[in-house]
Amino acid sequence: MRILVTNDDGVTSPGIKALAKALEALGEVTVVAPADQQSAIAHSITIYQPLTVTPLSNGKRGAVYAVDGTPADCIKLAVGEILSARPDLVVSGINHGGNVGINVLYSGTVAGAMEGAVLGIPAVAFSLDTHTAAKFDGYARLAVRWLGAQLPKLLQEPVAYNVNFPFIAPGHIKGFTFTRQLAMPYLDIFHRRIDPRGRTYFWLGADPVSEARWVKPPTPSGSFPSDFEAVRGGYASVTPLMVDRTHYDLLGRLAATPAPTRKKRR
Ligand code: MN
Repeated sequence: MRILVTNDDGVTSPGIKALAKALEALGEVTVVAPADQQSAIAHSITIYQPLTVTPLSNGKRGAVYAVDGTPADCIKLAVGEILSARPDLVVSGINHGGNVGINVLYSGTVAGAMEGAVLGIPAVAFSLDTHTAAKFDGYARLAVRWLGAQLPKLLQEPVAYNVNFPFIAPGHIKGFTFTRQLAMPYLDIFHRRIDPRGRTYFWLGADPVSEARWVKPPTPSGSFPSDFEAVRGGYASVTPLMVDRTHYDLLGRLAATPAPTRKKRR
């Protein structure tokens, strides 16, 4: 099996190194990842500037390439130009920081997996819910054990799975649970400071997921727990994501509503 690995924290981040190493148990691994920090870059692509690819290693077991672009750029470039054969699986992460709720919309890690799905390749994004210093090896091995067991299911269709680990010892994680994405607003906190020239600037806070940082969650709909609740409860959360963002319920209702008739003037 050919596995393409990317992330948004950059090619030298500990999360991607641990993940790529652990994935070698499953197949032939190629890393194509951003040269530097691309967190919260979402699904953006680079079109008004050229992209350069720097091979970082070409050992026996897997090549590593740095791209001065976004995670989506990396996947496009890898599949279109760098790899000699189409990958069977795209894996993104392990991100340093959780990607649950609406963070899914901002995440470059999730976007790397989504770009795989866009190109018709099954994909999985892994994130660890902490911004403090973390060792990723144990989570990477857990990720690969889960992937290995789930592969027949995962490879059936080009879907992006968003997996989030709670920041507890990998051995204490209660298991993997399927979840829905919580569409809950994040409570933005801007730090207002003064720069050395006396000018005011703002910096959006990047805190770990905590209840205090979230607006009160809406009543859960459906029988599935949300990604946020699962991670908070000590589970690894797995959410299948769609490329198609159409609101089908509403579409059906809109289409079923008769077009308004024009009032006749007398
Ligand atoms: Mn990141």
